Amino acid sequence: MCALSFYHMKKLFIVGNWKSNKTIKETEKWLHDFSDGFNKANIKLGDKKVIIAPPFTSLEHAHYCSGNLKLSLEFAAQDVSPLEEGSYTGEVSARQIKELADYVIIGHSERRTNFYENGEMIKKKITISRQYRLTSILCVSDLKQIHDAKFMIHNSNCILAYEPLSAIGSGLPDTPQNAESVAAKIKEIVNDAPVLYGGSVTSLNVNSFTKMPSIDGVLVGGASLDPLEFLNIVQNA
Ligand code: PEP
Repeated sequence: MCALSFYHMKKLFIVGNWKSNKTIKETEKWLHDFSDGFNKANIKLGDKKVIIAPPFTSLEHAHYCSGNLKLSLEFAAQDVSPLEEGSYTGEVSARQIKELADYVIIGHSERRTNFYENGEMIKKKITISRQYRLTSILCVSDLKQIHDAKFMIHNSNCILAYEPLSAIGSGLPDTPQNAESVAAKIKEIVNDAPVLYGGSVTSLNVNSFTKMPSIDGVLVGGASLDPLEFLNIVQNA
């Protein structure tokens, strides 16, 4: 089997993280535009899994519209409460999320930096996600963060996302060669779990990452807000 056909056979995760963007109406428009583009281009997803992570306020409506439009989209929450449901104002529990999503993004650098999320908190979030059969998408910016969480990851349904800080939202992606080398090291530490690359991914550079043998997909921030650009990312991955 040649190397090229191997790359095409691996399962690819393409995850769009909308962060704190889009109202419910804008979410609906995104889904309609995505659906129109998808149908016009007659896209076959094959082994590509396309996951979007709208904000909590839009998650339910995105789920509903996607069903109506018969889109093969899956959903992620952008965060999860470390605690069971109960008297925790402002938190959204894993049990609530499980009604609408199968994945949850944990430990994004924006949460680590702006909301002081530390290793202990992240471990609690991975644990509770596992209890409710949510797949964690654990974001790490370096190998130290992987070592801190590896015991949790071994017992969990976990996808890793390597996102170097300098690449997030900067328009300055990592080189595919460096991302591949870090992804290969992550795989050694976490028993071959899927590893995504994230940081300034666009439709123009996505394939340079997804063709790397240790990279199983991409986590896309800014470029996922435009449905047609996200569609191009899905096609080119
Ligand atoms: C992110 O925040 O996870 C991310 C990858 O953002 P961007 O694609 O905008 O760099």
